Amino acid sequence: MINYLYREQNWKSQLNDLITDPQELLDILSLSPDVLLSGAILASQQFKLRVPRSFVDKMEKNDPFDPLLLQVLPHHLELEEHAGFITDPLGEEAATQLPGVLHKYESRFLLTLTGACAIHCRYCFRRHFPYQENLPKNKDWLEIKTYIESQPYINEVILSGGDPLTLSNQKINTWLERIASIPQIKFLRIHSRVPIVIPERLDQELLNTLACSRLKVILVIHSNHANEIDERTQYYLKQLHQHNITLLNQTVLLKGVNDSVKVLQNLSYRLFECNVMPYYLHVLDKVKGAQHFDLSQDHVTTLYNELLALLPGYLVPKLVREIAGEKNKTPIVTQFNPTR
Ligand code: SF4
Repeated sequence: MINYLYREQNWKSQLNDLITDPQELLDILSLSPDVLLSGAILASQQFKLRVPRSFVDKMEKNDPFDPLLLQVLPHHLELEEHAGFITDPLGEEAATQLPGVLHKYESRFLLTLTGACAIHCRYCFRRHFPYQENLPKNKDWLEIKTYIESQPYINEVILSGGDPLTLSNQKINTWLERIASIPQIKFLRIHSRVPIVIPERLDQELLNTLACSRLKVILVIHSNHANEIDERTQYYLKQLHQHNITLLNQTVLLKGVNDSVKVLQNLSYRLFECNVMPYYLHVLDKVKGAQHFDLSQDHVTTLYNELLALLPGYLVPKLVREIAGEKNKTPIVTQFNPTR
Protein backbone atom coordinates (compact mmCIF):
# COMPACT_ATOMS: atom_id res chain seq x y z
CA MET A 1 0.00 0.00 0.00
CA ILE A 2 1.27 3.45 -0.89
CA ASN A 3 1.16 5.82 2.06
CA TYR A 4 -0.95 8.65 0.66
CA LEU A 5 -0.30 10.86 3.67
CA TYR A 6 3.28 11.40 2.50
CA ARG A 7 2.34 11.53 -1.18
CA GLU A 8 0.15 14.52 -0.49
CA GLN A 9 2.63 16.18 1.80
CA ASN A 10 4.90 18.70 0.16
CA TRP A 11 8.52 17.57 0.22
CA LYS A 12 9.57 20.89 1.71
CA SER A 13 7.27 20.43 4.68
CA GLN A 14 8.79 16.98 5.24
CA LEU A 15 12.25 18.51 5.10
CA ASN A 16 11.22 21.12 7.65
CA ASP A 17 9.83 18.50 10.01
CA LEU A 18 12.78 16.15 10.44
CA ILE A 19 13.32 14.30 13.70
CA THR A 20 16.40 15.75 15.39
CA ASP A 21 15.81 14.70 18.99
CA PRO A 22 17.07 11.19 19.91
CA GLN A 23 14.44 10.92 22.66
CA GLU A 24 11.63 11.51 20.16
CA LEU A 25 13.05 8.93 17.77
CA LEU A 26 13.30 6.29 20.51
CA ASP A 27 9.78 7.11 21.74
CA ILE A 28 8.29 6.68 18.27
CA LEU A 29 9.97 3.29 17.99
CA SER A 30 8.87 2.24 21.52
CA LEU A 31 12.48 1.78 22.57
CA SER A 32 13.36 2.34 26.20
CA PRO A 33 15.70 5.28 26.64
CA ASP A 34 18.47 3.53 28.57
CA VAL A 35 22.03 3.44 27.41
CA LEU A 36 20.95 4.13 23.82
CA LEU A 37 19.72 7.60 24.72
CA SER A 38 22.70 8.91 26.67
CA GLY A 39 25.10 7.77 23.91
CA ALA A 40 22.83 9.22 21.24
CA ILE A 41 22.63 12.61 22.94
CA LEU A 42 26.41 12.83 23.32
CA ALA A 43 27.18 11.68 19.78
CA SER A 44 24.55 13.95 18.25
CA GLN A 45 26.34 16.95 19.71
CA GLN A 46 29.14 16.24 17.21
CA PHE A 47 27.00 15.21 14.24
CA LYS A 48 23.32 15.97 14.67
CA LEU A 49 20.54 13.45 14.33
CA ARG A 50 18.45 14.20 11.23
CA VAL A 51 15.90 11.77 9.87
CA PRO A 52 12.62 12.20 7.97
CA ARG A 53 9.49 10.84 9.64
CA SER A 54 8.59 8.78 6.58
CA PHE A 55 11.96 7.00 6.79
CA VAL A 56 11.30 6.21 10.46
CA ASP A 57 7.96 4.69 9.40
CA LYS A 58 9.94 2.04 7.56
CA MET A 59 11.67 0.91 10.78
CA GLU A 60 10.44 -1.92 13.01
CA LYS A 61 9.20 -0.84 16.42
CA ASN A 62 10.84 -2.38 19.50
CA ASP A 63 13.92 -3.37 17.53
CA PRO A 64 17.12 -1.56 18.57
CA PHE A 65 18.96 -3.42 15.79
CA ASP A 66 16.68 -2.37 12.96
CA PRO A 67 19.03 -1.86 9.96
CA LEU A 68 17.51 1.52 9.09
CA LEU A 69 17.69 2.74 12.67
CA LEU A 70 21.35 1.76 12.99
CA GLN A 71 22.19 4.05 10.06
CA VAL A 72 20.76 7.15 11.73
CA LEU A 73 20.81 6.77 15.52
CA PRO A 74 23.89 8.47 17.01
CA HIS A 75 25.92 6.01 19.10
CA HIS A 76 28.44 6.45 21.89
CA LEU A 77 30.98 4.37 19.91
CA GLU A 78 31.25 7.34 17.51
CA LEU A 79 33.11 9.22 20.23
CA GLU A 80 35.95 6.71 20.46
CA GLU A 81 39.31 7.30 18.80
CA HIS A 82 40.58 4.53 16.51
CA ALA A 83 43.88 4.42 14.67
CA GLY A 84 43.41 5.01 10.95
CA PHE A 85 39.97 6.64 11.24
CA ILE A 86 40.39 10.30 10.39
CA THR A 87 38.32 13.38 9.54
CA ASP A 88 39.22 13.52 5.83
CA PRO A 89 39.75 9.88 4.76
CA LEU A 90 39.54 10.63 1.03
CA GLY A 91 41.90 13.61 1.01
CA GLU A 92 39.15 15.89 -0.29
CA GLU A 93 40.57 19.10 1.10
CA ALA A 94 43.64 18.58 -1.09
CA ALA A 95 41.42 17.88 -4.13
CA THR A 96 39.42 21.09 -3.75
CA GLN A 97 40.32 23.40 -6.64
CA LEU A 98 37.77 26.17 -6.05
CA PRO A 99 34.87 26.58 -3.60
CA GLY A 100 32.56 23.65 -4.42
CA VAL A 101 34.87 22.09 -7.03
CA LEU A 102 36.42 18.77 -6.03
CA HIS A 103 38.47 17.40 -8.90
CA LYS A 104 39.70 13.89 -8.18
CA TYR A 105 39.16 12.05 -11.49
CA GLU A 106 40.24 13.09 -14.97
CA SER A 107 36.98 13.20 -16.96
CA ARG A 108 34.63 14.31 -14.21
CA PHE A 109 34.53 16.48 -11.12
CA LEU A 110 32.27 17.00 -8.14
CA LEU A 111 30.32 20.18 -7.70
CA THR A 112 29.14 20.62 -4.14
CA LEU A 113 26.29 23.11 -4.03
CA THR A 114 25.02 22.50 -0.49
CA GLY A 115 26.13 20.97 2.77
CA ALA A 116 22.56 20.15 3.78
CA CYS A 117 21.14 16.62 3.81
CA ALA A 118 17.65 15.25 4.43
CA ILE A 119 19.17 12.56 6.64
CA HIS A 120 22.39 12.26 8.57
CA CYS A 121 23.99 8.90 7.92
CA ARG A 122 26.30 7.99 10.77
CA TYR A 123 28.86 6.42 8.40
CA CYS A 124 29.10 9.52 6.18
CA PHE A 125 32.66 10.15 5.00
CA ARG A 126 31.88 13.87 4.77
CA ARG A 127 30.59 14.20 8.31
CA HIS A 128 33.55 16.48 9.14
CA PHE A 129 33.74 18.28 5.79
CA PRO A 130 34.04 22.08 6.15
CA TYR A 131 31.11 22.91 3.87
CA GLN A 132 30.79 26.52 4.92
CA GLU A 133 34.18 27.37 3.40
CA ASN A 134 33.54 25.32 0.27
CA LEU A 135 30.18 26.25 -1.18
CA PRO A 136 30.19 28.20 -4.46
CA LYS A 137 28.15 31.36 -4.74
CA ASN A 138 26.50 32.60 -7.92
CA LYS A 139 29.37 35.01 -8.49
CA ASP A 140 31.81 32.05 -8.53
CA TRP A 141 30.27 30.51 -11.66
CA LEU A 142 32.50 32.29 -14.16
CA GLU A 143 35.59 31.07 -12.36
CA ILE A 144 34.21 27.50 -12.32
CA LYS A 145 33.41 27.75 -16.04
CA THR A 146 36.95 28.94 -16.78
CA TYR A 147 38.30 26.02 -14.75
CA ILE A 148 36.20 23.50 -16.72
CA GLU A 149 37.27 24.99 -20.04
CA SER A 150 40.91 24.74 -18.98
CA GLN A 151 40.45 20.95 -18.52
CA PRO A 152 39.41 19.63 -21.96
CA TYR A 153 39.03 16.02 -20.74
CA ILE A 154 36.16 16.90 -18.40
CA ASN A 155 32.85 15.76 -19.91
CA GLU A 156 30.80 15.08 -16.77
CA VAL A 157 29.75 17.12 -13.76
CA ILE A 158 28.72 15.29 -10.61
CA LEU A 159 26.40 17.12 -8.24
CA SER A 160 27.27 15.89 -4.80
CA GLY A 161 26.95 17.16 -1.29
CA GLY A 162 25.49 17.45 1.15
CA ASP A 163 22.54 16.34 -0.90
CA PRO A 164 21.88 18.33 -4.10
CA LEU A 165 18.19 17.36 -4.13
CA THR A 166 17.60 19.35 -0.95
CA LEU A 167 17.99 22.45 -3.15
CA SER A 168 14.98 24.19 -4.69
CA ASN A 169 13.93 23.41 -8.25
CA GLN A 170 14.84 26.94 -9.21
CA LYS A 171 18.39 26.60 -7.95
CA ILE A 172 18.84 23.20 -9.58
CA ASN A 173 17.53 24.58 -12.85
CA THR A 174 19.90 27.55 -12.70
CA TRP A 175 22.95 25.35 -12.18
CA LEU A 176 21.83 22.85 -14.83
CA GLU A 177 21.52 25.62 -17.39
CA ARG A 178 24.95 26.93 -16.51
CA ILE A 179 26.52 23.49 -16.83
CA ALA A 180 24.66 22.71 -20.06
CA SER A 181 25.95 25.96 -21.58
CA ILE A 182 29.45 24.45 -21.76
CA PRO A 183 29.60 22.32 -24.92
CA GLN A 184 32.27 19.89 -23.65
CA ILE A 185 29.97 18.70 -20.82
CA LYS A 186 27.86 15.76 -21.97
CA PHE A 187 26.76 14.11 -18.75
CA LEU A 188 25.26 15.28 -15.50
CA ARG A 189 25.37 12.89 -12.57
CA ILE A 190 23.44 13.52 -9.36
CA HIS A 191 24.27 11.61 -6.19
CA SER A 192 21.42 11.70 -3.71
CA ARG A 193 19.82 9.82 -0.86
CA VAL A 194 16.69 11.96 -1.08
CA PRO A 195 14.84 9.63 -3.52
CA ILE A 196 15.07 6.99 -0.80
CA VAL A 197 14.22 9.10 2.24
CA ILE A 198 11.80 11.73 0.82
CA PRO A 199 10.75 10.40 -2.59
CA GLU A 200 8.09 13.13 -2.96
CA ARG A 201 11.05 15.40 -3.75
CA LEU A 202 10.90 13.92 -7.25
CA ASP A 203 8.09 16.27 -8.20
CA GLN A 204 6.90 16.93 -11.72
CA GLU A 205 8.81 20.19 -12.03
CA LEU A 206 12.10 18.49 -11.16
CA LEU A 207 11.36 15.57 -13.48
CA ASN A 208 10.69 17.97 -16.34
CA THR A 209 13.87 19.93 -15.65
CA LEU A 210 15.99 16.77 -15.72
CA ALA A 211 14.20 15.25 -18.71
CA CYS A 212 14.44 18.41 -20.82
CA SER A 213 18.13 19.05 -20.27
CA ARG A 214 20.47 18.63 -23.21
CA LEU A 215 22.71 16.69 -20.82
CA LYS A 216 22.36 12.95 -20.32
CA VAL A 217 21.24 12.73 -16.69
CA ILE A 218 22.28 9.91 -14.38
CA LEU A 219 20.84 9.74 -10.88
CA VAL A 220 22.77 7.63 -8.42
CA ILE A 221 20.59 6.85 -5.45
CA HIS A 222 22.13 5.64 -2.21
CA SER A 223 20.29 2.70 -0.72
CA ASN A 224 21.78 0.24 1.73
CA HIS A 225 18.87 -2.10 2.48
CA ALA A 226 15.74 -3.31 0.67
CA ASN A 227 13.58 -2.19 3.63
CA GLU A 228 14.29 1.39 2.54
CA ILE A 229 12.42 0.90 -0.74
CA ASP A 230 8.68 0.74 -0.13
CA GLU A 231 5.93 1.10 -2.72
CA ARG A 232 5.94 4.86 -2.40
CA THR A 233 9.65 5.00 -3.21
CA GLN A 234 9.12 2.54 -6.05
CA TYR A 235 6.39 4.75 -7.52
CA TYR A 236 8.72 7.76 -7.74
CA LEU A 237 11.68 5.77 -9.03
CA LYS A 238 9.46 4.53 -11.84
CA GLN A 239 8.56 8.13 -12.66
CA LEU A 240 12.25 8.89 -13.07
CA HIS A 241 12.70 5.90 -15.31
CA GLN A 242 9.75 6.99 -17.44
CA HIS A 243 11.44 10.37 -17.85
CA ASN A 244 14.49 8.68 -19.33
CA ILE A 245 16.76 9.25 -16.33
CA THR A 246 19.40 6.53 -15.92
CA LEU A 247 19.13 5.11 -12.41
CA LEU A 248 22.03 3.54 -10.53
CA ASN A 249 22.51 2.67 -6.89
CA GLN A 250 25.48 2.69 -4.62
CA THR A 251 25.61 0.91 -1.30
CA VAL A 252 27.99 1.17 1.62
CA LEU A 253 28.78 -2.14 3.28
CA LEU A 254 27.95 -1.63 6.95
CA LYS A 255 28.39 -3.97 9.89
CA GLY A 256 25.02 -4.80 11.44
CA VAL A 257 23.09 -3.18 8.57
CA ASN A 258 23.75 -5.13 5.38
CA ASP A 259 26.70 -7.47 6.06
CA SER A 260 24.71 -10.53 5.02
CA VAL A 261 24.51 -12.05 1.58
CA LYS A 262 20.73 -12.42 1.85
CA VAL A 263 20.30 -8.71 2.60
CA LEU A 264 22.53 -7.73 -0.33
CA GLN A 265 20.80 -10.16 -2.65
CA ASN A 266 17.36 -8.82 -1.67
CA LEU A 267 18.57 -5.27 -2.22
CA SER A 268 19.76 -5.98 -5.76
CA TYR A 269 16.47 -7.64 -6.71
CA ARG A 270 14.44 -4.85 -5.13
CA LEU A 271 16.42 -2.21 -6.97
CA PHE A 272 15.93 -4.02 -10.26
CA GLU A 273 12.16 -4.13 -9.67
CA CYS A 274 12.37 -0.33 -9.48
CA ASN A 275 14.47 0.00 -12.67
CA VAL A 276 17.62 0.84 -10.71
CA MET A 277 20.86 -0.97 -11.55
CA PRO A 278 23.27 -1.87 -8.72
CA TYR A 279 26.44 0.10 -9.40
CA TYR A 280 28.87 0.21 -6.49
CA LEU A 281 29.24 -1.69 -3.25
CA HIS A 282 31.63 0.45 -1.24
CA VAL A 283 33.63 -0.69 1.71
CA LEU A 284 33.49 1.82 4.52
CA ASP A 285 35.61 4.94 4.16
CA LYS A 286 37.64 5.18 7.34
CA VAL A 287 36.10 8.32 8.71
CA LYS A 288 36.42 9.24 12.37
CA GLY A 289 33.24 8.24 14.22
CA ALA A 290 32.20 5.38 11.92
CA GLN A 291 34.63 2.69 12.98
CA HIS A 292 31.88 0.52 14.51
CA PHE A 293 30.47 -0.07 10.98
CA ASP A 294 33.77 -1.46 9.68
CA LEU A 295 34.16 -5.07 8.49
CA SER A 296 37.28 -7.17 8.15
CA GLN A 297 38.73 -7.69 4.68
CA ASP A 298 38.07 -11.47 4.99
CA HIS A 299 34.42 -10.89 5.83
CA VAL A 300 34.02 -8.54 2.86
CA THR A 301 35.68 -10.96 0.44
CA THR A 302 33.59 -13.91 1.64
CA LEU A 303 30.37 -11.93 1.37
CA TYR A 304 31.16 -10.72 -2.11
CA ASN A 305 32.10 -14.15 -3.41
CA GLU A 306 28.80 -15.51 -2.05
CA LEU A 307 26.97 -12.68 -3.76
CA LEU A 308 28.68 -13.46 -7.07
CA ALA A 309 27.47 -17.03 -6.79
CA LEU A 310 23.87 -16.06 -6.00
CA LEU A 311 23.09 -13.22 -8.39
CA PRO A 312 23.19 -12.86 -12.16
CA GLY A 313 26.21 -10.73 -13.12
CA TYR A 314 24.11 -7.73 -14.13
CA LEU A 315 22.79 -7.42 -10.58
CA VAL A 316 26.18 -7.62 -8.84
CA PRO A 317 27.49 -4.17 -7.87
CA LYS A 318 31.22 -3.54 -8.26
CA LEU A 319 33.04 -3.94 -4.96
CA VAL A 320 35.33 -0.94 -4.53
CA ARG A 321 37.18 1.19 -2.08
CA GLU A 322 38.23 4.76 -2.52
CA ILE A 323 41.87 5.58 -1.84
CA ALA A 324 42.86 9.19 -1.34
CA GLY A 325 44.81 10.51 -4.31
CA GLU A 326 43.93 7.62 -6.67
CA LYS A 327 42.50 8.53 -10.10
CA ASN A 328 39.60 6.08 -9.81
CA LYS A 329 37.85 3.87 -7.30
CA THR A 330 39.89 0.76 -6.61
CA PRO A 331 38.18 -2.60 -7.37
CA ILE A 332 38.64 -5.06 -4.50
CA VAL A 333 37.69 -8.38 -6.07
CA THR A 334 38.50 -8.88 -9.71
CA GLN A 335 36.69 -12.10 -10.56
CA PHE A 336 33.48 -10.22 -11.35
CA ASN A 337 31.99 -12.01 -14.35
CA PRO A 338 29.40 -9.90 -16.16
CA THR A 339 28.49 -12.82 -18.47
CA ARG A 340 27.22 -15.05 -15.66
S1 SF4 B 1 22.98 11.80 2.65
FE1 SF4 B 1 25.05 11.45 1.85
S2 SF4 B 1 26.20 13.32 2.31
FE2 SF4 B 1 24.32 13.33 3.58
S3 SF4 B 1 24.92 12.41 5.53
FE3 SF4 B 1 24.11 10.76 4.25
S4 SF4 B 1 25.93 9.91 3.25
FE4 SF4 B 1 26.51 11.93 4.03
